[in-house]
Amino acid sequence: MASDAPAGTDVDYRGLLEAEREDLRAQLAELGFGESGGLKYDPNFADSSQVTAERGEVEALAGQLRDALEEVEAAIDRLEKGTYGICEVCGQPISPARLEAKPAARRCIACASRQ
Ligand SMILES: [Zn+2]
Repeated sequence: MASDAPAGTDVDYRGLLEAEREDLRAQLAELGFGESGGLKYDPNFADSSQVTAERGEVEALAGQLRDALEEVEAAIDRLEKGTYGICEVCGQPISPARLEAKPAARRCIACASRQ
C-alpha cells in the first residue's frame, strides 16, 4: 500500500491518525456520544443519582475523547495542507520520534515542554 508519509520517513502518519480517529470515534459511540456530541438520552436511566454521577464522569471522559478527536482531525487537515509535522509555535520540524509517539502533536518537544 502506498504511504503518505513525509519524505525521509517510513512512517504512515495518515494511517496512524486515521486509526486513532476511528478508535476515538468508536470510544465515543460506546459511551453513547455521537460524533456531533450530546449524550443520547435514555429515559430508562433517568432520575437516579448514581447514574447522574456516572454521567458526569462519562461526560468528562467524552470531553477528553472529543478534544483528542479534534486534535487528530486537525493533524489530518495539516497533512492535507502539507504543513504536517511543523511546529506551530517555532516553525521547526517536529522530530519523527515525537510524531510516532503522538501523531497529532502540534508543537515540537521544546515548545511543548515550555508550556
Ligand atoms: Zn517548536
